[in-house]
Formats: sequence, C-alpha cells, structure tokens
Amino acid sequence: MDVTSAMCAHGHEQVVLVADPPSGLRAVIAVHSTALGPSLGGVRFWTYASDADAIQDALALSEAMTWKASIAGLHQGGGKAVVLLDDLDAAHDEAMLRALGRAIDELGGRYLAAEDVGATTADMELLATVTPWVTGVSETLGGSGDPSPVTAWGVLVAMRAGLAARDGPDATLAGRRVAIQGAGKVGGHLAQLVAEAGGQVLIADRREDRADAVARSCGGQPISADEILSVACDVLAPCALGGVLNDATVPRLGCRVVCGAANNQLAGPAVDEALDRRGIVYIPDFVASAGGIINLAEEFTGYSRARALARTATI
Ligand code: NAD
Repeated sequence: MDVTSAMCAHGHEQVVLVADPPSGLRAVIAVHSTALGPSLGGVRFWTYASDADAIQDALALSEAMTWKASIAGLHQGGGKAVVLLDDLDAAHDEAMLRALGRAIDELGGRYLAAEDVGATTADMELLATVTPWVTGVSETLGGSGDPSPVTAWGVLVAMRAGLAARDGPDATLAGRRVAIQGAGKVGGHLAQLVAEAGGQVLIADRREDRADAVARSCGGQPISADEILSVACDVLAPCALGGVLNDATVPRLGCRVVCGAANNQLAGPAVDEALDRRGIVYIPDFVASAGGIINLAEEFTGYSRARALARTATI
C-alpha cells in the first residue's frame, strides 16, 4: 500500500505502525488532523485480512473523527487506533495494552485514546496506568466512563430529526419499527431508548446471543444478521461496522430513514445519491454518532453527564 500517498489524498498528518514482539501487539495509530486540537478517537480491536486493510481502516476512521469533532463544535481533532487481532473473541492481553499505552504516550498528547469496537472501560483504565493521554476511564477515577449511553442518546435525537425530515415536524418514534444492526454497547443502549420512546425494536448481531439478550430486555424482536438490512422498518440504525451501505445493500434496504452510530457507513460518496434516489433519508454517521466524542470532550472542562446529555441533545 502506498501509505503516504493515501495520507496526502485525505490530509492525514501522521500514521504510526506499532509492533511489540514480546506481547504480540500489532497496531496502527492514525492522526488525521490536529488543526482544532489534539486528535481524539477510539481504539478498535478487530481482525484484518492484511496490514493494508488495517491502515486503510485507521485512515478512514481518523478522518471521520475530524468531521465529527468539528461539526460538534469541539476543540478536538481526529485520530484513531486499530489493534490487529488474530482471534476476535479472545480476551485482551494486559501486556498488549501496556505496549499500546507506551506507543500512545510517545505521541505526547497528539492522539487521545478512547473506547471503540472491542474495547472496554477497563481497557482504558489499564492504558491510563501507562499514559495520561486516555479518555473514558470511569467517573470514580476522574473520567467520563463508557461513552456508549451518550452516543446512543445522540442517535435517538438524530433519529427523531430524520423522521421529522421524512414525515413532518410532529413525527415521533411511537409505533415505529427500528431495525438495529449490532447489539453491542451502543446498539444495546439504543434499543432501550427506542423501546422507552414507544418504538418497536428489531435487532441483529453476528453473535446471536447478544441480539437475543437485548431483544429480551427491551421487549424487541431478534432478527438474523442476514435479514436486518432488508427487513421492513421505518428506521435502520447501523451500529456495527462501516461500509454497510453499498451498491449491493442499498437496493434491498427495507427502511425509510438510516440513522445509526457505526462510523463510515457509506462505502463511497456515490452511495449517498443512491440512497437519495430511493427516497431514503440518511443522517450522516459523523453527525448521528457525535454524542460519544461530545461526552469525552466534557472531561477537559470537569465532567458533567447532565451537560454532556444536554449538549448531545442539540444534534
Ligand atoms: P461494540 O463492539 O460494543 O458492538 C458492535 C457489535 O456489532 C458487536 O456486538 C458485534 O458482534 C456486532 N457486529 C459486528 N459485525 C456485525 C454484522 N455484520 N452484523 C451484525 N452485528 C455485527 O461496539 P460499539 O461501541 O457499540 O460501537 C458500534 C459502532 O458505533 C462502531 O462502528 C463504532 O465505531 C461506532 N461508534 C461507537 C461509539 C461509542 O460510544 N461506543 C461512538 C461513536 C461511534
């Protein structure tokens, strides 16, 4: 992969490749922009077919964080770290996290870590024993904790705006069918919020046990991961991984509005037009999912969950 050309094409400032043979850590840290402040973005634990795929993911995700922080009016830039795993479901290795913490520390605050797919608050707390450049440690340790509940709240707010754009200003979630792809940290919280707003939850996960558990807890219906995109619904909420809206999936979407937390949902810019041609309202992912970074940024001025929720409500 021609890495520096890819960086130049999208304005990335820095990419750090990290390998720590004793722990087996292999990671990529991408800093897209520090124009508005230190880059902030999650650490993703995932399996990749190649190093190039991992670098590409880090580049795209860090760029999305720049748009997200900037449209939310924060003094933050965009960054992201991805950790290349051999086994997706294996427990996180402490030595690996310590090695990642040392690499983050060497960036001297240009990149601030946070939770992303596969990461936990406990992982952030372990990183914080190695470097101060970590957000999202628990509130008892002076942080803001898991951002996912606030992210989910922001998605709900954006969903209401999407329905209003489609059906008029008085549209509510009551009685609407909301299909959630991904029953993880955000998808799980979102399911509860949708159910509390009177919506009907349809939920899928590549791990069926997770979808079953969330569906049980909110009175929703589990759906197979293969069917969730095409199921007839009012809103589709992608809350798993990116690239889910593409030439193959858009023709078979069963929704009228797309609004979810997953980063980089569009496989390419032309997909936006394909959605428009089908009359589907698309809430840009970097807008819908900004609650998480809004919540993390509150740490820098003395964390208040109430303030984070109020600011997220402006999405
Ligand atoms: P998570 O790891 O807790 O959950 C993701 C879930 O998606 C997992 O349960 C996984 O099994 C499932 N999944 C993966 N591929 C799937 C597929 N093809 N079909 C169905 N399910 C699938 O992650 P999360 O923190 O809930 O984040 C979800 C998405 O939202 C990610 O794209 C993340 O980058 C984005 N995001 C999260 C936050 C946050 O606060 N956590 C903030 C902004 C954006």
